[in-house]
Amino acid sequence: MVNPGENNPSVEGIKPPKHNYQRDLEYIIHGLQKRGETPTLLLHACCAPCSSYSIEYLSQFFRITVFYYNPNISPDEEYRHRVAEIKRFVAEFPTKNPVTLIEGPYEPKKFYEFVRGLENEPEGGKRCRKCFELRLAESARVAKELCADFVTTTLTISPMKDAQVLNEVMEEQCQKYGVKRLPTDLKKKGGFKRSTELSAEYNLYRQNFCGCIFSQREAREREARLKKDTEESSAP
Ligand code: SF4
Repeated sequence: MVNPGENNPSVEGIKPPKHNYQRDLEYIIHGLQKRGETPTLLLHACCAPCSSYSIEYLSQFFRITVFYYNPNISPDEEYRHRVAEIKRFVAEFPTKNPVTLIEGPYEPKKFYEFVRGLENEPEGGKRCRKCFELRLAESARVAKELCADFVTTTLTISPMKDAQVLNEVMEEQCQKYGVKRLPTDLKKKGGFKRSTELSAEYNLYRQNFCGCIFSQREAREREARLKKDTEESSAP
C-alpha cells in the first residue's frame, strides 16, 4: 500500500517534507477501531529494547507475531544474548491481545554475502539499506506464509534509522510477496523515550552498537574519539 504523499519527487532541487508514517498508522488504527477489528501483524523485531514500546503500543490494536530474524548480528554470543532478551520480554510483558514470538534462522554468512563490497560504508548508508532489504524480505515472506494481515518492523523506533527508507524497503518487499505493509515511524509520539523507560523497568540489555561487526567497529572508534576528546579537554 503506497500512501498519498509518499515518494514525492523533489521540485527544483527542493526536498519534499518527510512523510508522516505515524499519521498513516493512526488513520489505519482509527478505521480498525471503528470496525471493531483486531487484525494479525507480523512484527519484525531487531532487539528487545526496540520491541518494548513497539509491542506495548501495537498490541493494543493487533494480534502480534514477533519475528526475530537478524542475520546481521555478530558475533554469535551477541546474537544469542539479544534473542534471549526479546524472548524474556515477550514472556514477561502483559498485553491486551496475544503476542507470540518466532525465531528465524541465524544465517550470518548470508548477511556477509548480501553486503559484500559495502563493508566500509558508514552506518546509515548503502550497506544498511541492503541489510534492511535482507531482513524485511524474509519478514514479508513469512507474513505471507502465515497469512498475516499486516507486516512491519520495530526498526523505525531508532533515531539512527530513517523511517522513510525503512518504509520504502518494506513496501518493495510487500509488493513482491503480496502482503500489506503497516506504515510506522515508532520513534514518534515519544516512542523512543518510552522504549528507554521500559528497558530500564525490565532491565533489558541495551547494546551500544547496531548489530554487525562493521557497526561494532564504528562504535569502538566513536568511543575512542570521545575518550580522547574528554582527556584533551580536561588536561591542564
Ligand atoms: S549498521 Fe546496522 S543496519 Fe547497518 S548494516 Fe550494520 S547491522 Fe545492518
